[in-house]
Amino acid sequence: MKNTETAMTFDDFDLDDVLLSAINKLNYHKPTPVQMEAIPAMLERHDVLAGAATGTGKTAAFVLPMLQFLLDEPRYPNLPRVMILAPTRELAFQIHKVIHELGEFCDFKSVIITGGFDQTKQIRHLEQPFDILVGTPGRLTHLMAEGELDLNDIEMVIIDEADRMLDMGQGTDVHGLLDAIPTEFQAALFSATLSGSGVQRFAETICDEPVIVQIEAANEKSKQIQQVVYLADDKAHKQALLENLLKDATCESAIVFCNKKTRAIEVNEWLQSKNISSQVLHGDFIQAIRLEKMKKFKNNQIKVLVATDVAARGLDLLNVTHVINYDIPFRGDIYIHRIGRTGRAQQVGLAINLVERHDLVNLERIEYHLGHKLPQAKIEGMEPSYKVKDAKRVKKKNAKKSKIAQKKKAKVKTKKK
Ligand code: AMP
Repeated sequence: MKNTETAMTFDDFDLDDVLLSAINKLNYHKPTPVQMEAIPAMLERHDVLAGAATGTGKTAAFVLPMLQFLLDEPRYPNLPRVMILAPTRELAFQIHKVIHELGEFCDFKSVIITGGFDQTKQIRHLEQPFDILVGTPGRLTHLMAEGELDLNDIEMVIIDEADRMLDMGQGTDVHGLLDAIPTEFQAALFSATLSGSGVQRFAETICDEPVIVQIEAANEKSKQIQQVVYLADDKAHKQALLENLLKDATCESAIVFCNKKTRAIEVNEWLQSKNISSQVLHGDFIQAIRLEKMKKFKNNQIKVLVATDVAARGLDLLNVTHVINYDIPFRGDIYIHRIGRTGRAQQVGLAINLVERHDLVNLERIEYHLGHKLPQAKIEGMEPSYKVKDAKRVKKKNAKKSKIAQKKKAKVKTKKK
């Protein structure tokens, strides 16, 4: 992947003012990686094959150049000029919503056609002039078979979540729809992953020499982040380690993750009692307060953000030197998502895990997900009193004991009978 993660803004694309106003209104400050790569390629009218999952900003990555195309080559529509296909009705509605948001200051009409809704009404919509068709392959195929859908004027086709579409067996319907387009069209295919041979083959039948946009897989990226484990005996030990790490000169800004809101509040209060500049961010705050807190954090007015996973969802575009898991997450994908907040733009990021004995199960699960063990570190004078090996031995012993106890119980029960 090209290193485009510079100080690029939306103004750098050749987008019309009506689109820039909508972008502004949505508070998108800078393009996400998939937008940086896909928007210029689509604007140059190349076919595009993009590997980008939900949450990467992929919808705007195709909606913006699609709207710009309609602005650049205006034509009073009778029949739709753009067709966007999605595997599910929910996704189709989501895309439709983004078209409305980003197209707020344009004058284009879009129609959504999915299963689960009154077909007669949909036919009436199709009879009116409109520009953009968003739909699921099944219902569109059905309407086309009934002679109610005319794709004669389609100039651009966007296929979202192609991998899921193939999993759901919609490939034949998609091909049937594309075969009904009589002239050449620009194609853009988005998929969470490009690695499966199914998607590659599917793309080959649709795209013509596409520009490939592969947003670094999260798991791959995690290799660039220095990760480390500090074993802690108990809460007091964990707090002392946290204080020490945050007061280290290399720590400029940190997100401290907790699994629960109550713990995040507690950790934040404790940090403040130690004169560490911190704020808590959890799911209960209204959007305006969340934005205010994030702004302060971005502007370095506060050094530490203590966050839960829910609250951290909108923090994708931040740049922090340290991510500290005060609580180890329960799943590997959550772990990767958390640590991805650091190490952006080729900087070295540090992800630190504070692990008590009872967290070892979660640590093992995460290491399994990563495919490698995480190194351990110690701070002089703050060494743990246990080793992972010993803790595992004790766990095995306890498991054996409880098995024997269970067997004894079962024996007593059968005797009683
Ligand atoms: P998507 O991957 O399309 O589902 O988008 C995920 C979320 O990112 C949505 O809530 C979008 O509104 C948001 N989003 C898309 N582009 C940007 C951007 N450039 N800056 C900030 N948020 C964005």
